[in-house]
Amino acid sequence: MKKKDPKFEEAFCTVYDDCLSVDQIEYLSMNDPEEYARIKEALFCPECKVPPLHLSHRFKNPHLKVMPGRNHDNDCSSKSDYIPRSSFKKYIEDSRNIDNLNLKLKRCINQLIEGTKKNNLDNNSNSHVDEVKNGMKLAWKGSTYAIPRKRFNRNIRENDLEIWKLFYGKNFLEWKYSDKTNKHYLRIYTEKDAFVCDIWFSEMVYSYLSSNIKNLDKGTYRIAMFGEMHKKDNYYSIMCTNSKLLEISF
Ligand SMILES: [Zn+2]
Repeated sequence: MKKKDPKFEEAFCTVYDDCLSVDQIEYLSMNDPEEYARIKEALFCPECKVPPLHLSHRFKNPHLKVMPGRNHDNDCSSKSDYIPRSSFKKYIEDSRNIDNLNLKLKRCINQLIEGTKKNNLDNNSNSHVDEVKNGMKLAWKGSTYAIPRKRFNRNIRENDLEIWKLFYGKNFLEWKYSDKTNKHYLRIYTEKDAFVCDIWFSEMVYSYLSSNIKNLDKGTYRIAMFGEMHKKDNYYSIMCTNSKLLEISF
């Protein structure tokens, strides 16, 4: 079984009491050395908030890594292997798991984007369906696995494609409509207006979306979804297969 990738795309910053994306941290490191000096030793694992993280530019791929010799809390999903891809596909395709997956999306928005310290979803009435309370983890056949995840940013790699992942981020969103295919799609940009990918919806899935989502004005939102990212030429897209596999926080 493949060991978990130790890279992070966000960190909890104790100076701001908030999560910062790797893009924000990298921006500060390049453009605001004073501010960067203030926060660079205040960055921690976004989930367990125990080990300090540092910015690494290895292979021209900016990411955050745990400081050598430091360890995660035992409950942190970073301690677990990723769920094998075929098991994850089965898990997602089993409709009994939909509510639990939806809860994970809300938790992801809370923990990895908003940086909420105490998880206010733990007392949620749906929590009986959630076998794994802490972090970005799932229970499958008696074991606990980490959920593979990827931030919506311009740094999409080969191993983010054609595989179920939790995609998430704070992004600029805009609805579009294709006359050619008669389908709605949601265009995802970075916060700095660079195109990331499109999320496509069948008429059926679109009809089940909440009116909040269907009517959102273009702007910046926190978004999380389960999907498989595809790449054709230089165009990235994801099909939303169930309205509950997409969460946007308003
Ligand atoms: Zn951790």
